[in-house]
Amino acid sequence: MRELKRINLTEEFLSEGRVRFEKSEYPFEEYSGADGLSYPISSKSDIELKISNVKKGQILLEGSFKITLLMPCDRCLKDVEVPIDLEFQKEFLDEEHQGSMDDKDEFYALEGSDLNVFDFIDQEILLNLPSKILCSDECKGICPICGTDRNLNECNCDSFVPDPRMAGIMDIFMANKEV
Ligand SMILES: [Zn+2]
Ligand SMILES: [Zn+2]
Repeated sequence: MRELKRINLTEEFLSEGRVRFEKSEYPFEEYSGADGLSYPISSKSDIELKISNVKKGQILLEGSFKITLLMPCDRCLKDVEVPIDLEFQKEFLDEEHQGSMDDKDEFYALEGSDLNVFDFIDQEILLNLPSKILCSDECKGICPICGTDRNLNECNCDSFVPDPRMAGIMDIFMANKEV
């Protein structure tokens, strides 16, 4: 069960000009991605939050958090350090001032007047994950035929020839290989 940290923002919604600072540790060893996989954390900062009353019923949440995840290279599966620098700024309305669901943040909504800090941070990490993870732009990946890491060793397999006449034959070959 993941630890929760909830901050109740009722006072911040109500009191004009009120500013509140919160500092929190991110207490997990791993980040659980939306894909259901967990990635080890190699370093992280504290979560810094500043919550300001904009006007009655409206707050601005600003903050920062740095985290470095170990994620597998898309081509060779070797662990790669993926630094993620979060700088966020989000406005929230209290329940009374929230109109339809359309007005709510499409990724994160408060739970009543509570900010669930780690849920919010996890969402922000998710939004900032790189779409491609490569150990290097020149990564040669793994040979699809023998599984050799081509960065370390040359293998003797015929490298794939992108000739359309060959594609069908290669498909059959690869399908048999998997059985
Ligand atoms: Zn790689
Ligand atoms: Zn090979």
